[in-house]
Amino acid sequence: MTTPESPRLIVADIVWTGTGDVFEPGVIELDGGRIVAVSAVTGPRPVGPDVVDLGASLVMPGLVNTHAHTPMSLMRGVAEGHSLLTMEGFLAVLRTREAHLTPELVPASVAVSCADFIRHGITAFADQYFYADRIAPVVLESGLRAALAWGIVELGDDTARARELAAATAFAESMQGASDIVRGWLGPHAYFVDNTPEAMVAELEAATRLGAGLHVHFSTSSEEDDWCREHTATSSLEQLVAMGMLEVPTILAHCNTVPVDELPLLAGTRASIAVIPSVAMQSGVPAAPVRAALDAGVNVSLGSDNVCNNTGVDLFEEMRTLGKLAAFTSQVPNEVTPAEILGIATVNGHRALGGAEGDGMLQAGAIADLIAIPLAEVGRGPRGAQSLEAALVYGTSGASVSSSLVGGSWIMRDRRVLTLDVDAAIAQQQRDYDILISRMAAATGEQHGRV
Ligand SMILES: [Zn+2]
Repeated sequence: MTTPESPRLIVADIVWTGTGDVFEPGVIELDGGRIVAVSAVTGPRPVGPDVVDLGASLVMPGLVNTHAHTPMSLMRGVAEGHSLLTMEGFLAVLRTREAHLTPELVPASVAVSCADFIRHGITAFADQYFYADRIAPVVLESGLRAALAWGIVELGDDTARARELAAATAFAESMQGASDIVRGWLGPHAYFVDNTPEAMVAELEAATRLGAGLHVHFSTSSEEDDWCREHTATSSLEQLVAMGMLEVPTILAHCNTVPVDELPLLAGTRASIAVIPSVAMQSGVPAAPVRAALDAGVNVSLGSDNVCNNTGVDLFEEMRTLGKLAAFTSQVPNEVTPAEILGIATVNGHRALGGAEGDGMLQAGAIADLIAIPLAEVGRGPRGAQSLEAALVYGTSGASVSSSLVGGSWIMRDRRVLTLDVDAAIAQQQRDYDILISRMAAATGEQHGRV
């Protein structure tokens, strides 16, 4: 493995900062994983052993994927024709396979997912899956910034609840102080319809005690609301507020059916919503109310979800899908503007991960997480015809990202991932898949034998 270099100055023809400032050309000064200064180059471009001049490139903040399940690249394609956003789809398609998943089948697929993230301009992400103790070492190797939540599936089973709560809490404890950029969270799969209120109380207590966050699926359908109306006579969001569940950093993934008039309940809390417009479209569920949530003061972020109910991890594609879906559903062009969409995929993402205010913009004091794209691949019209923001959202592919820096260290240069052996991970993933399928076939055969 090549040791990532840590430059002091990065120069590029365009530096899009996310603050409103654009420098052409621009220079970014770095120190200790943070940005010291960003400015226009005046006079000759700086040169030197600790200067990296990216030439005819655009540099911008790295994108943040706030809802992922990295081990699930092992099962890409298995949910075609199903919706994993319903308990029925989750149980019938996914849990039947996960019943045969053992910890050693996790790391290679995590590496495949992390490499996919890096190659599409993602520099930070929030993950939710069990066996997070097998996920963390690979993520640490990848150099990506992350909040890793041990996924808790209990479905009302007392034994599963005790086992998964213990595992998730032990994992979050083990990550305390382990890394500056990778943290351990707790990941209740879904409140009420999966994790019982008893589990929720324990999860909130552990998250509060450990300074960790909670990462949960929410409002993918009306199932939580139906349960809460029957058992508590309140909505699920009102119940979360009453239980104090939104007083720790919380990612509520999807939020397709959250009632618009309840969105103000999320404003001013530590909860963020993670929308995944491609998954809403592919699963045939309503679009999350992005415009209304922004107007209500809710922190809206962007995720990819897993590659079983999404087709990929390209957040540039996800950004333009968000814009198009918001315009389509409201019948208002630019219902969510390109500048807002870029904020959703950068600054808001870091806020959702519990980052410091201002992280996700290229400015003094912020974390040094950035990506570079060759200018020839930023689909921009004649100068003056199109904003840079519109060109990035509607005319740029994540596959065009050529370099990526996290915490001041390169993790990709010239489209080569520096931190992971991608070919070896892909080969191992195939062997892991073959093992999983053979176990499923053996189990089916036993069942048939008994019948
Ligand atoms: Zn999910």
